[in-house]
Amino acid sequence: MKTIGLLGGMSWESTVEYYRLINEGIKSKLSGLHSAQIAMYSVDFEPIEQLQKSGDWESSGEILADAAKKIESAGADFLLICTNTMHKVAQQIEAAIQIPLIHIADATAEELIKNNMQSVGLLGTVFTMEQDFYKGRLQDKFGLNVVIPEKADREIVHKVIYQELCLGNVQTNSRNEYLRIIKDLSEQGAQAVVLGCTEIGILVKQSDTEIKLLDTTAIHAQKAVEMAIS
Ligand code: GLU
Repeated sequence: MKTIGLLGGMSWESTVEYYRLINEGIKSKLSGLHSAQIAMYSVDFEPIEQLQKSGDWESSGEILADAAKKIESAGADFLLICTNTMHKVAQQIEAAIQIPLIHIADATAEELIKNNMQSVGLLGTVFTMEQDFYKGRLQDKFGLNVVIPEKADREIVHKVIYQELCLGNVQTNSRNEYLRIIKDLSEQGAQAVVLGCTEIGILVKQSDTEIKLLDTTAIHAQKAVEMAIS
């Protein structure tokens, strides 16, 4: 079995989910007492979030590249960055290590294409919903049509992520707002909605809606399981 590298802590609320899902995945594939071989480095999220806010992505990239090197020297065979947003600095991280980086947007796009989905809704931080490193990648690299919420709703989605979900705070009102926005995206032609932030799965579950949801945390974790035993 290969060793999975996890760059976590962004936030730790979703890193816990990665750890659980990956171990459940290995257990169900290999049975018995098998569990995943993981090398994890979990950063302090507060300074990272400050750098996001001030637009200093270069410095946040340096912190994460340094952490990635530590994961590599701890014996990881490949790396997962356990957040969609910080894939903004994926190239900077990739350049610092020799082991492959499993890009969360690529894993998600592969899943969409496998399910014959062409037009998808995208929820995440404003960086993920609006910028080329993520929305643009789904469109340009994979030819997907990506629908995002209108500006006021993007702000709601973003605010709930940082002010509630990253703090482990799950609110019924916020779930209802997300479900309203998901319905809206579906009415605009989205065949499925990508939960493009690793904490959204804590708030919204597939059982809450008939609209198909793709949880990036679950897809990314599943990909790691497959690679670990391949
Ligand atoms: N975990 C979140 C994501 O998947 C947001 C936190 C962050 O900014 O990294 O985008």
